[in-house]
Amino acid sequence: MNYYSTNGNAPLASLEKAVVKGLAEDRGLYMPERIEKLPKAFFEDISSMSFQDIAYNVASNFFGEDVDEDALQDIVYDTLSFDCPVVKVTDNIYTLELFHGPTLAFKDVGARFMARLLGYFLRRKSSGKTVNVLVATSGDTGSAVANGFLGVEGIHVYVLYPKGKVSPIQECQFTTLGKNITAIEVDGVFDDCQTLVKSAFMDKELNNHMMLTSANSINVARFLPQAFYYFNAYARLSTQLSTSNSDLVMCVPSGNFGNICAALFGHEMGLPIKRFIAANNANDVFYNYLQTGKYEPRPSIQTLANAMDVGDPSNFARIYDLYGKSHERISTLISGAKYQDEQIAETMRQCYSETGYILDPHGACGYRALQEGLKDGEIGVFCETAHPAKFKEKVDDILGIDIEIPARLKAFMEGEKQSVEMTKDFTDFKRFLMQQ
Ligand SMILES: *Cc1c(COP(=O)(O)O)cnc(C)c1O
Repeated sequence: MNYYSTNGNAPLASLEKAVVKGLAEDRGLYMPERIEKLPKAFFEDISSMSFQDIAYNVASNFFGEDVDEDALQDIVYDTLSFDCPVVKVTDNIYTLELFHGPTLAFKDVGARFMARLLGYFLRRKSSGKTVNVLVATSGDTGSAVANGFLGVEGIHVYVLYPKGKVSPIQECQFTTLGKNITAIEVDGVFDDCQTLVKSAFMDKELNNHMMLTSANSINVARFLPQAFYYFNAYARLSTQLSTSNSDLVMCVPSGNFGNICAALFGHEMGLPIKRFIAANNANDVFYNYLQTGKYEPRPSIQTLANAMDVGDPSNFARIYDLYGKSHERISTLISGAKYQDEQIAETMRQCYSETGYILDPHGACGYRALQEGLKDGEIGVFCETAHPAKFKEKVDDILGIDIEIPARLKAFMEGEKQSVEMTKDFTDFKRFLMQQ
């Protein structure tokens, strides 16, 4: 299958090119030329299928023409080494827990899939050359990418992060791994890290010396696999619920809108979801678009749910393209909600006292949007996009508890930190990379 650019000014790309390059030449986002509906038989059998089998069927629909059957199955099975369970919170609200992966956030699914698919393409070429992934992070992306690529042959990852500016819990998730992961501690802010990465991609001499690529969240191999768990959620719910599933509402706490975009692709493939809610924090650019039809990006505002602090959601271009640029189609299928920090904290307290369920600040936006937005007869599912212990200080403070840190997060915290200190001067970074 070929991929076209949302900007319409770049040549069609193969899957391999779209995955290796990430962004199209015209800076648009890659979109698959076709989205096939899954067969009726698949939906009839889905409730008796395992998560991995469901995911393999969905993956074949997108990647089946371009990846060998056996290899694709291995990639999918290896990616999903953990579950994404659906848990009941109230009578009509369920949570899709996406935090059971290595770094306790949903980004693990996309990062693991992308790492394995990239590894597959490299092995097929068998040039024997190592591909170097450069990633700048303010915290969460670095950990998901580093852990997703950990131990994948033929790939080395360099994670650049601002010294002293990521939380200790985040830092240990990419500085203690060793193997093919190098953490680079930059004496500067996140923007300096990003600038170093961009300069490296533009430097001719460096690119002749080593093969460089990014693991950006707009990569088709990172966002499409996120559709897997929506199908699984539907399957698990259809066994739990005796009623018909024609009234399912999916609510996704959103920042760059990659996660909800994958759910919308699932819907195009026939997943029976009635409607969607995009839950936002105070960063309400998409919310405003739904109300007015005007898309007006703004600088982001810092909030309690900081992984959603995005002022110009990159996947808006995909959603806009998917529905033929029609505001009417988009706002009929998707509604919005937005919450200030006080409302997020209040929701976390209320949910904890009424149900005992501990929400993280991102999931809290989703839960509240369902509480306020569900109509009679509808069943709502919201994504818990991260484990609350990832935000331990905030969650403890808001709920007045001492939340337990899961063992796999503790294990990171006990590992030994290994990092390379770096100035924000590109000459130093380049000299370092030229010696690798
Ligand atoms: C990345 C992230 C989000 C936002 O997801 P998008 O795909 O960017 O919309 C929400 N919650 C958490 C915890 C995240 O890490």
